[in-house]
Amino acid sequence: MGETAGIKEEKRCALVTGGSRGIGRAIAVALAKAGHPVMINYSGNLDAAEEAAMLCATEDLELPVFIEQTDVSDEAGAAKLIQSAEEKLGHLDILVNNAGITRDGLILNMKTEDFQAVLDTNLKGTFFCCREAAKLMMKRRFGRIINMASIVGLHGNAGQSNYSASKAAIIGLTKSLAKELASRKITVNAIAPGYIDTDMTRAMSDKAIENTIKAIPLRRAGQPEEVGALAAFLASEDAAYITGQVIGVDGGMGA
Ligand code: NAP
Repeated sequence: MGETAGIKEEKRCALVTGGSRGIGRAIAVALAKAGHPVMINYSGNLDAAEEAAMLCATEDLELPVFIEQTDVSDEAGAAKLIQSAEEKLGHLDILVNNAGITRDGLILNMKTEDFQAVLDTNLKGTFFCCREAAKLMMKRRFGRIINMASIVGLHGNAGQSNYSASKAAIIGLTKSLAKELASRKITVNAIAPGYIDTDMTRAMSDKAIENTIKAIPLRRAGQPEEVGALAAFLASEDAAYITGQVIGVDGGMGA
Protein backbone atom coordinates (compact mmCIF):
# COMPACT_ATOMS: atom_id res chain seq x y z
CA MET A 1 0.00 0.00 0.00
CA GLY A 2 1.34 3.42 -0.97
CA GLU A 3 1.35 5.01 2.45
CA THR A 4 2.94 2.04 4.17
CA ALA A 5 5.63 1.29 1.58
CA GLY A 6 8.45 -0.68 3.17
CA ILE A 7 6.23 -1.91 5.99
CA LYS A 8 4.63 -5.36 5.77
CA GLU A 9 1.48 -4.95 3.74
CA GLU A 10 -1.72 -5.48 5.66
CA LYS A 11 -5.30 -5.52 4.51
CA ARG A 12 -7.51 -2.57 5.35
CA CYS A 13 -10.51 -3.80 7.34
CA ALA A 14 -14.04 -2.43 6.99
CA LEU A 15 -17.25 -2.11 8.97
CA VAL A 16 -20.50 -1.39 7.13
CA THR A 17 -23.46 -0.39 9.29
CA GLY A 18 -26.78 -1.53 7.87
CA GLY A 19 -24.83 -3.89 5.64
CA SER A 20 -27.47 -6.61 5.54
CA ARG A 21 -29.66 -5.21 2.78
CA GLY A 22 -29.84 -2.72 -0.08
CA ILE A 23 -27.04 -0.20 -0.49
CA GLY A 24 -25.12 -1.38 2.59
CA ARG A 25 -25.07 -4.95 1.32
CA ALA A 26 -23.76 -3.80 -2.08
CA ILE A 27 -21.06 -1.75 -0.35
CA ALA A 28 -20.01 -4.72 1.81
CA VAL A 29 -19.77 -6.92 -1.29
CA ALA A 30 -17.79 -4.28 -3.23
CA LEU A 31 -15.35 -3.89 -0.32
CA ALA A 32 -14.93 -7.66 0.07
CA LYS A 33 -14.31 -8.05 -3.67
CA ALA A 34 -11.72 -5.25 -3.42
CA GLY A 35 -9.87 -7.39 -0.87
CA HIS A 36 -11.05 -5.97 2.46
CA PRO A 37 -12.04 -8.13 5.43
CA VAL A 38 -15.55 -6.93 6.30
CA MET A 39 -17.91 -6.78 9.26
CA ILE A 40 -21.59 -6.42 8.37
CA ASN A 41 -23.79 -4.76 10.96
CA TYR A 42 -27.58 -5.14 10.95
CA SER A 43 -30.41 -4.23 13.29
CA GLY A 44 -32.86 -7.15 13.19
CA ASN A 45 -32.80 -9.14 9.99
CA LEU A 46 -30.37 -12.00 10.68
CA ASP A 47 -31.33 -13.94 7.51
CA ALA A 48 -30.52 -10.92 5.33
CA ALA A 49 -27.22 -10.39 7.15
CA GLU A 50 -26.23 -14.03 6.63
CA GLU A 51 -27.14 -13.80 2.96
CA ALA A 52 -25.04 -10.62 2.62
CA ALA A 53 -22.10 -12.37 4.30
CA MET A 54 -22.37 -15.25 1.85
CA LEU A 55 -22.25 -12.81 -1.07
CA CYS A 56 -19.09 -11.28 0.43
CA ALA A 57 -17.32 -14.60 0.72
CA THR A 58 -14.38 -14.94 -1.63
CA GLU A 59 -11.88 -17.72 -2.34
CA ASP A 60 -9.34 -15.89 -0.16
CA LEU A 61 -9.46 -17.50 3.28
CA GLU A 62 -7.62 -14.54 4.74
CA LEU A 63 -10.68 -12.46 4.03
CA PRO A 64 -13.06 -13.20 6.88
CA VAL A 65 -16.60 -11.79 6.94
CA PHE A 66 -18.30 -11.14 10.28
CA ILE A 67 -21.87 -10.19 11.07
CA GLU A 68 -22.88 -8.25 14.17
CA GLN A 69 -26.32 -7.22 15.38
CA THR A 70 -26.47 -3.71 16.87
CA ASP A 71 -28.91 -0.84 16.86
CA VAL A 72 -26.55 2.01 15.98
CA SER A 73 -28.87 4.57 17.57
CA ASP A 74 -27.95 3.10 20.95
CA GLU A 75 -24.83 4.83 22.26
CA ALA A 76 -23.47 1.85 24.19
CA GLY A 77 -24.38 -0.52 21.36
CA ALA A 78 -22.57 1.59 18.78
CA ALA A 79 -19.46 1.76 20.97
CA LYS A 80 -19.57 -2.02 21.41
CA LEU A 81 -19.93 -2.48 17.67
CA ILE A 82 -16.80 -0.45 16.94
CA GLN A 83 -14.85 -2.34 19.63
CA SER A 84 -16.05 -5.64 18.24
CA ALA A 85 -14.97 -4.65 14.72
CA GLU A 86 -11.54 -3.68 16.03
CA GLU A 87 -11.15 -6.96 17.91
CA LYS A 88 -12.56 -9.36 15.34
CA LEU A 89 -11.04 -7.73 12.25
CA GLY A 90 -7.76 -6.93 14.02
CA HIS A 91 -8.07 -3.24 13.20
CA LEU A 92 -10.78 -0.97 11.85
CA ASP A 93 -9.59 1.14 8.93
CA ILE A 94 -12.75 1.78 6.91
CA LEU A 95 -16.07 2.79 8.45
CA VAL A 96 -19.17 3.08 6.29
CA ASN A 97 -22.08 4.69 8.15
CA ASN A 98 -24.91 3.45 6.00
CA ALA A 99 -27.66 2.38 8.43
CA GLY A 100 -30.71 4.51 7.87
CA ILE A 101 -34.49 4.63 8.16
CA THR A 102 -37.39 6.76 6.96
CA ARG A 103 -40.62 7.75 8.76
CA ASP A 104 -42.18 9.95 6.10
CA GLY A 105 -45.02 12.40 6.64
CA LEU A 106 -46.00 16.00 6.10
CA ILE A 107 -44.91 18.35 8.87
CA LEU A 108 -48.45 19.07 10.15
CA ASN A 109 -48.96 15.37 10.89
CA MET A 110 -45.45 14.44 11.84
CA LYS A 111 -45.25 12.81 15.23
CA THR A 112 -42.38 13.85 17.45
CA GLU A 113 -41.38 10.18 17.82
CA ASP A 114 -41.09 9.82 14.04
CA PHE A 115 -38.87 12.88 13.84
CA GLN A 116 -36.78 11.59 16.74
CA ALA A 117 -36.46 8.01 15.46
CA VAL A 118 -35.05 9.16 12.12
CA LEU A 119 -32.59 11.56 13.77
CA ASP A 120 -31.56 8.87 16.26
CA THR A 121 -30.71 6.20 13.70
CA ASN A 122 -29.44 8.30 10.81
CA LEU A 123 -27.60 11.10 12.58
CA LYS A 124 -26.85 9.96 16.12
CA GLY A 125 -25.91 6.49 14.89
CA THR A 126 -23.45 8.05 12.46
CA PHE A 127 -22.07 10.36 15.15
CA PHE A 128 -21.62 7.54 17.71
CA CYS A 129 -19.79 5.32 15.22
CA CYS A 130 -17.62 8.17 13.90
CA ARG A 131 -16.58 9.20 17.40
CA GLU A 132 -15.57 5.71 18.50
CA ALA A 133 -13.85 4.84 15.22
CA ALA A 134 -11.98 8.16 15.13
CA LYS A 135 -10.31 7.31 18.45
CA LEU A 136 -8.86 4.15 16.91
CA MET A 137 -8.04 5.63 13.52
CA MET A 138 -6.26 8.63 15.02
CA LYS A 139 -3.89 6.34 16.90
CA ARG A 140 -3.20 4.42 13.70
CA ARG A 141 -2.93 7.57 11.60
CA PHE A 142 -5.07 6.17 8.84
CA GLY A 143 -8.77 5.96 8.17
CA ARG A 144 -11.56 6.15 5.66
CA ILE A 145 -14.98 7.24 6.88
CA ILE A 146 -17.84 7.20 4.40
CA ASN A 147 -21.20 8.56 5.53
CA MET A 148 -24.46 7.90 3.70
CA ALA A 149 -26.22 11.17 3.03
CA SER A 150 -28.89 11.64 0.35
CA ILE A 151 -29.84 13.99 -2.42
CA VAL A 152 -32.68 15.16 -0.16
CA GLY A 153 -30.11 16.35 2.40
CA LEU A 154 -29.00 18.82 -0.28
CA HIS A 155 -32.30 19.71 -1.93
CA GLY A 156 -35.05 18.73 0.56
CA ASN A 157 -38.19 16.74 -0.23
CA ALA A 158 -41.83 17.31 0.71
CA GLY A 159 -42.90 14.66 3.20
CA GLN A 160 -39.36 13.97 4.36
CA SER A 161 -38.48 16.91 6.62
CA ASN A 162 -37.15 14.58 9.33
CA TYR A 163 -35.14 12.44 6.92
CA SER A 164 -33.84 15.46 4.95
CA ALA A 165 -32.79 17.16 8.20
CA SER A 166 -30.89 14.04 9.27
CA LYS A 167 -29.10 13.82 5.93
CA ALA A 168 -28.27 17.54 5.80
CA ALA A 169 -26.80 17.18 9.29
CA ILE A 170 -24.72 14.21 8.15
CA ILE A 171 -23.24 16.43 5.46
CA GLY A 172 -22.26 19.06 8.08
CA LEU A 173 -20.82 16.34 10.30
CA THR A 174 -18.83 14.92 7.39
CA LYS A 175 -17.32 18.25 6.36
CA SER A 176 -16.38 19.15 9.95
CA LEU A 177 -14.80 15.76 10.66
CA ALA A 178 -12.86 15.93 7.40
CA LYS A 179 -11.22 19.10 8.71
CA GLU A 180 -10.67 17.72 12.21
CA LEU A 181 -9.15 14.41 11.17
CA ALA A 182 -7.17 15.26 8.04
CA SER A 183 -3.87 15.72 9.88
CA ARG A 184 -4.05 12.03 10.84
CA LYS A 185 -4.59 10.90 7.24
CA ILE A 186 -8.23 10.10 7.90
CA THR A 187 -10.54 11.04 5.05
CA VAL A 188 -14.24 11.64 5.62
CA ASN A 189 -16.65 11.82 2.71
CA ALA A 190 -20.37 11.55 2.12
CA ILE A 191 -22.26 9.82 -0.66
CA ALA A 192 -25.56 11.38 -1.69
CA PRO A 193 -27.60 8.77 -3.57
CA GLY A 194 -30.67 9.81 -5.52
CA TYR A 195 -33.32 7.16 -6.12
CA ILE A 196 -31.84 3.68 -5.63
CA ASP A 197 -33.86 0.48 -5.98
CA THR A 198 -33.93 -1.04 -2.47
CA ASP A 199 -36.49 -2.16 0.13
CA MET A 200 -36.57 1.44 1.37
CA THR A 201 -37.75 2.88 -1.94
CA ARG A 202 -39.91 -0.12 -2.86
CA ALA A 203 -42.20 1.07 -0.07
CA MET A 204 -43.14 4.07 -2.26
CA SER A 205 -46.41 4.07 -4.22
CA ASP A 206 -46.32 3.25 -7.95
CA LYS A 207 -47.34 6.84 -8.72
CA ALA A 208 -44.52 8.26 -6.57
CA ILE A 209 -41.99 5.95 -8.24
CA GLU A 210 -43.24 6.99 -11.70
CA ASN A 211 -42.93 10.70 -10.82
CA THR A 212 -39.49 10.19 -9.33
CA ILE A 213 -38.19 8.40 -12.44
CA LYS A 214 -39.52 11.24 -14.61
CA ALA A 215 -37.37 13.68 -12.61
CA ILE A 216 -34.16 11.67 -13.18
CA PRO A 217 -32.20 12.79 -16.27
CA LEU A 218 -30.96 9.20 -16.82
CA ARG A 219 -34.64 8.03 -16.54
CA ARG A 220 -34.04 5.01 -14.33
CA ALA A 221 -33.49 4.00 -10.71
CA GLY A 222 -29.91 3.54 -9.60
CA GLN A 223 -28.74 0.11 -8.49
CA PRO A 224 -27.17 -0.48 -5.05
CA GLU A 225 -24.01 -1.76 -6.80
CA GLU A 226 -23.56 1.66 -8.39
CA VAL A 227 -23.25 3.15 -4.90
CA GLY A 228 -21.08 0.23 -3.79
CA ALA A 229 -18.55 0.97 -6.52
CA LEU A 230 -18.13 4.57 -5.35
CA ALA A 231 -17.77 3.50 -1.71
CA ALA A 232 -15.05 1.00 -2.66
CA PHE A 233 -13.20 3.74 -4.54
CA LEU A 234 -13.47 6.20 -1.64
CA ALA A 235 -12.08 3.48 0.65
CA SER A 236 -9.12 2.83 -1.62
CA GLU A 237 -5.58 4.23 -1.54
CA ASP A 238 -6.37 6.04 -4.81
CA ALA A 239 -8.85 8.27 -2.96
CA ALA A 240 -6.29 9.49 -0.40
CA TYR A 241 -6.60 13.14 -1.54
CA ILE A 242 -10.41 13.27 -1.50
CA THR A 243 -11.94 14.45 1.77
CA GLY A 244 -14.88 16.56 2.94
CA GLN A 245 -16.78 15.88 -0.28
CA VAL A 246 -20.41 15.02 -0.94
CA ILE A 247 -20.59 12.90 -4.07
CA GLY A 248 -23.90 12.27 -5.79
CA VAL A 249 -24.93 8.94 -7.31
CA ASP A 250 -28.23 10.15 -8.65
CA GLY A 251 -28.55 9.80 -12.42
CA GLY A 252 -28.18 13.56 -12.78
CA MET A 253 -31.04 14.46 -10.42
CA GLY A 254 -28.93 16.81 -8.31
CA ALA A 255 -27.06 18.38 -11.23
P1 NAP B 1 -32.79 -0.49 3.34
O1 NAP B 1 -32.88 -1.33 2.13
O2 NAP B 1 -34.03 -0.17 4.08
O3 NAP B 1 -31.70 -1.11 4.34
C1 NAP B 1 -31.48 -0.48 5.56
C2 NAP B 1 -30.33 -1.15 6.28
O4 NAP B 1 -30.08 -0.42 7.49
C3 NAP B 1 -30.63 -2.58 6.69
O5 NAP B 1 -29.42 -3.30 6.59
C4 NAP B 1 -31.09 -2.45 8.14
O6 NAP B 1 -30.84 -3.62 8.92
C5 NAP B 1 -30.16 -1.33 8.60
N1 NAP B 1 -30.64 -0.58 9.77
C6 NAP B 1 -31.78 0.14 9.91
N2 NAP B 1 -31.85 0.69 11.13
C7 NAP B 1 -30.73 0.31 11.78
C8 NAP B 1 -30.21 0.54 13.09
N3 NAP B 1 -30.87 1.29 13.99
N4 NAP B 1 -29.01 -0.01 13.42
C9 NAP B 1 -28.32 -0.78 12.53
N5 NAP B 1 -28.76 -1.03 11.28
C10 NAP B 1 -29.95 -0.50 10.92
O7 NAP B 1 -32.16 0.95 2.97
P2 NAP B 1 -31.26 1.42 1.71
O8 NAP B 1 -32.17 1.96 0.70
O9 NAP B 1 -30.28 0.38 1.37
O10 NAP B 1 -30.54 2.67 2.38
C11 NAP B 1 -29.24 2.59 2.93
C12 NAP B 1 -28.76 4.00 3.24
O11 NAP B 1 -28.78 4.78 2.04
C13 NAP B 1 -29.64 4.74 4.24
O12 NAP B 1 -28.84 5.57 5.04
C14 NAP B 1 -30.53 5.59 3.35
O13 NAP B 1 -31.00 6.72 4.02
C15 NAP B 1 -29.56 5.95 2.24
N6 NAP B 1 -30.18 6.35 0.99
C16 NAP B 1 -30.98 5.49 0.29
C17 NAP B 1 -31.53 5.91 -0.90
C18 NAP B 1 -32.38 5.02 -1.75
O14 NAP B 1 -32.91 5.49 -2.77
N7 NAP B 1 -32.56 3.75 -1.41
C19 NAP B 1 -31.31 7.22 -1.36
C20 NAP B 1 -30.50 8.07 -0.62
C21 NAP B 1 -29.94 7.62 0.56
P3 NAP B 1 -31.90 -4.87 8.95
O15 NAP B 1 -31.73 -5.62 7.65
O16 NAP B 1 -31.49 -5.67 10.13
O17 NAP B 1 -33.26 -4.26 9.08
